[in-house]
Amino acid sequence: MQPRDLSDHVAYEAGRGIEEVARELECDPSELVKLASNENPHGPSPAATVALREAASSVSSYPKAAHADLTAAVADRWGVDDAQVWLANGGDGAIDYLHRAMLEPDDTVLVPTPGFAYYGMSARFHHGDVAEYALERAADFEQTAETVLESYDGERIVWVTSPHNPTGSTMPLAEIERLAAETADETLVVVDEAYGEFADRESAVALIEGRDGFDARDDVAVLRTFSKAYGLAGVRLGYAVVPDAWADAYTRVNTPFAASELACRAGLAAVDDDEHVERTVETALESRASMREEIDAHVWDSEGNFVLVAVGDASAVAEEMQERGVIVRDCSSFGLPGCVRITCGTDEETERAVETLNAVLDDLEIDPDSAGSEVSDA
Ligand SMILES: *Cc1c(COP(=O)(O)O)cnc(C)c1O
Repeated sequence: MQPRDLSDHVAYEAGRGIEEVARELECDPSELVKLASNENPHGPSPAATVALREAASSVSSYPKAAHADLTAAVADRWGVDDAQVWLANGGDGAIDYLHRAMLEPDDTVLVPTPGFAYYGMSARFHHGDVAEYALERAADFEQTAETVLESYDGERIVWVTSPHNPTGSTMPLAEIERLAAETADETLVVVDEAYGEFADRESAVALIEGRDGFDARDDVAVLRTFSKAYGLAGVRLGYAVVPDAWADAYTRVNTPFAASELACRAGLAAVDDDEHVERTVETALESRASMREEIDAHVWDSEGNFVLVAVGDASAVAEEMQERGVIVRDCSSFGLPGCVRITCGTDEETERAVETLNAVLDDLEIDPDSAGSEVSDA
């Protein structure tokens, strides 16, 4: 027998792991710097590490109280009702829940290109179709309502990534409001704020709740994750904040106990550890600035914990950097074969990434002034 026709489905390409690369290069993992997956260079919140150890002995029970406690803590943080917080197995799990709740077979979602691959993958798992809107390199990947509306054709869900992965650009709240207002009543605009902590901007939760001069809307949802600023990528924890009007759909679409006891306990500890998040954001700002200043190639302005760099031939540059012990993300799979994405590291990691990249650009004789324009990133 065979599974259903999966020919439209593509495998997710994650950034390369440090052990995997160390084995290939026959070196010690400690000699490598991994800046390929936008992970937290300071590791998890120390409070979360303690909570994880303490929770170890209680994992024989299903996570009921922990799930309720974390939901309440997150709801409190955003000033929304508990029911509006849809905890999930990573932000990716929350993407699945939104598709489960919204999509009828053959409904279409509209996603950005370049962009995060999982929106489309998840929509297809849920028997949906995928259409794309382009963020233009010539416009520095600028995001406005118009950028999306040019391609909009009544899709059920419009995905907006702000800050955007892999470009680092953002869509201002007023533009998101315009987009939601100008799309159909039955179109949901989901604002993926996986990197929200790194941007000095207000969350689109303001549009859901009608704060700061915005009217409350029932056609906007927000996605958040503990993977990036909180340093909990390995426990898999994220959530959606949804409008009150249809928040009860969660009970009918969620996988029982999708956020594990360990994830919920770690999340509860991390959500109150402001110091760790502040330190993480500060490091990212410094790293971003120094990469923009010191890399001998075009670096786009970014509001995430990473920067996008125009290097000409991304696979050659990423490969050569890896040979020299620095793992970065080749953006070919995002639809940008001329660019690499480099995660903000500690001071030392950032310095090593900058030096290595500049040396590689020099050795491969890539002219930084032409690298941006020669390659077409259609
Ligand atoms: C990292 C990321 C997510 C969520 O990742 P999880 O680890 O599943 O929480 C969502 N959207 C974007 C754009 C991301 O980069």
